[in-house]
Amino acid sequence: FGWWDHVKPAPLDPINGVTEAFLADPSPDKINLGVGAYRDDEGKPVVLQCVREAEAKIVGCEFLESVSASVSSKLVEESVKLVYGNNSNVIKEGRFAGVQTLSGTGACHLFAEFQKRFYPESLIYLPDPTWSNHHNIWRDAHVPRRTFHYYNHNSKGLNFAALMDDIKNAPDGSFFLLHPCAHNPTGVDPTEDQWSEISHRFKVKNHFPFFDMAYQGFASGNLDIDAKAIRIFLEDGHVIGCAQSYAKNMGLYGHRVGCLSVLCSDSTQAVAIKSQLQQIARAMYSSPPVHGVLLVSTILSDPDIKSLWVREVQVMANRIRRKRAALRDSLEKLGSPINWEHVTNQVGMFCFSGLTPDHIDQLAREFHVYMTHDSRISSVISTPKGNASSLAFSSNES
Ligand code: PLP
Repeated sequence: FGWWDHVKPAPLDPINGVTEAFLADPSPDKINLGVGAYRDDEGKPVVLQCVREAEAKIVGCEFLESVSASVSSKLVEESVKLVYGNNSNVIKEGRFAGVQTLSGTGACHLFAEFQKRFYPESLIYLPDPTWSNHHNIWRDAHVPRRTFHYYNHNSKGLNFAALMDDIKNAPDGSFFLLHPCAHNPTGVDPTEDQWSEISHRFKVKNHFPFFDMAYQGFASGNLDIDAKAIRIFLEDGHVIGCAQSYAKNMGLYGHRVGCLSVLCSDSTQAVAIKSQLQQIARAMYSSPPVHGVLLVSTILSDPDIKSLWVREVQVMANRIRRKRAALRDSLEKLGSPINWEHVTNQVGMFCFSGLTPDHIDQLAREFHVYMTHDSRISSVISTPKGNASSLAFSSNES
């Protein structure tokens, strides 16, 4: 009685807030462009064929404790190959500590807690902008946050000069979070040459790169090409941390399957770091669920199912590209005076449309089109009749 009177509702999450407004709109023409997961032409989640095949293969499997430990190590073993490359020395020499996590969010959270425990005075530098939950995760782990320049609102591209200055001006040995591909929310990635320059400057400054890879395959359609940024850092001899998620590229959002890996100087250090990560996870959730991880490890370790997955990732990435081209084409044909080149220059699932908050409010009010206030839209949701023209109309107003 009275115990919780001081608890007020938490502020709305920017992404969930859009969904709530969308659900409350009775219009039959409404559309939610704020969705952060891959969808088919009818706006429905997609179950990949490789997942169906893995399901068929594991049906009837008994989830014994011993099975769950070995499946978990298989997941880690296969996941690190996707990041660092099949033939990487890091893997051959066992110079990494890897653990199964609760998708990409859980991997970021576990790393944030690990950072706090072993570098209690450290900060984290996050790109401006970034996936909004990065701020929540490091805030809740009590790691102070700073941002570094990333997006240039005028060019609608990378603010490379400012980014390089921020790396230079950060105190030596700072932690930085980097999106290795398909940056969320901007869809803007550095080029390979720019990644090399970033890596060199990190080396000079002795910064720690933590890569959050939530969309491997969605930028180029190729898993190795999308890991190129990390491979460049690896080549340059960095100690790296990496969060991986299978929510998007395997369409397993609801299963929460991910991996956190931290590179180490040798296999003895790897054992120590892994045990610390496991200890932190133990206090948070003991152990992760088994079904999703069994699906992912089956897909990654069966050569036929894996090559099916690789092809399906490519199909999704191609469709994203076609959707972007179609959106730009429609807007241009409708006579919008805005330059929409950025729609096709950006990569990955999100398009940082550049619409203003007034446009965004007007779109929701008059056309039942919903998106987050930063102007991010999903590039895979089809627009029902009339809605592409509403985007063009709205931007004509500016
Ligand atoms: N990191 C980034 C950059 C993301 O965009 C997302 C999802 O939106 C995540 C991590 C977390 O993904 P999940 O926890 O669903 O795997």
